[in-house]
Amino acid sequence: MLNKKIVFSGVQPSGNLHIGNYLGAIAQWVEMQDKYNCIFCVVDYHAITVKQEPAVLKKKIIEVAKIYLASGIDPKKSIIFQQSDISAHTELTWILNCVARISDLNKMTQFKDKAGEGQENVGVGLFDYPVLMASDILLYNTDAVPVGEDQVQHVELCRTLGRRFNSQFGETFKIPEVVIRKEGARIMGLDDPTKKMSKSAESEYNYIGLTDKPEIAAKKVMKAVTDSGKEIKYDEKTKPAISNLLTIYSLLVGKSVKQLESKYKGKGYGDFKKDLAEMVKKFLTDFQARYKKISDKEVERILGDGAKKAGAMADETLKRVKEKIGTI
Ligand code: ATP
Ligand code: MG
Repeated sequence: MLNKKIVFSGVQPSGNLHIGNYLGAIAQWVEMQDKYNCIFCVVDYHAITVKQEPAVLKKKIIEVAKIYLASGIDPKKSIIFQQSDISAHTELTWILNCVARISDLNKMTQFKDKAGEGQENVGVGLFDYPVLMASDILLYNTDAVPVGEDQVQHVELCRTLGRRFNSQFGETFKIPEVVIRKEGARIMGLDDPTKKMSKSAESEYNYIGLTDKPEIAAKKVMKAVTDSGKEIKYDEKTKPAISNLLTIYSLLVGKSVKQLESKYKGKGYGDFKKDLAEMVKKFLTDFQARYKKISDKEVERILGDGAKKAGAMADETLKRVKEKIGTI
């Protein structure tokens, strides 16, 4: 555990995990496992910043951990745990709440997007979400945080809070770097290529769910909106929908966008979507075969094990923080 740099990241057990979560975040975690000491969290306290059905949340926590495992996160190499198992996360959040300013949080675009018009009536937790995320990251002396593009602003806030604490109380936290993929960091909605694919999207035609029935997912691809014209060409400005589908296709099959453009030269959207639908179907069929082999019991054991390992690291940091602020 000592020599390698530390990676920390997580996904909320809210809604249905989609191919954007996989391509933007989880797939790059899998690649980082050998080079780094990785810690992957199921961030259930983040999920409750919006309304969750308790019985559903409980199932989703297991589901997210299974998705990590089916994606190739190896519990022998990486720590996998559930956020609420380690109370240091919420304790550090309280302390960092006293370092964070309202003006820092007022800048967060995700809050504005999620709160919508009714900003005054949403829970305080949704506003404070980035401080909890900063605590998650800072507790583990994290060097690198691999996330999708939508989370970059939150990681920047984490850096600000870490630095501010360090200058107020003396060197305590390591300041982490954000890591985003060159391609796939922002997969867009199938029904609206101007907005990111999202678990909390209103329409299920927005996303390809990792647990969608493969035939249903294929149908979603066929129904995905396209752009004017008929050429298969990557151009985010004039062809946002086709560019998004090209990115998904390219990452799923490991071929460059350029290769795909020449493969579909002279062909139309219909042919292109039919092939992509087939690829998505195959990807999900293989993924779900791995997913089904993992039992709930095994997941519970892995999460319990992970909580022990992560808990020891988190407690050490929290102790250091408490000494610095003068409570112990
Ligand atoms: P929600 O709508 O509930 O916020 P979400 O789809 O944004 O759900 P999160 O759990 O918030 O999912 O994010 C998990 C990880 O997936 C983060 O690293 C985030 O940056 C990444 N991610 C989320 N959506 C996308 C996307 N459309 N493209 C690429 N990465 C994404
Ligand atoms: Mg999100």
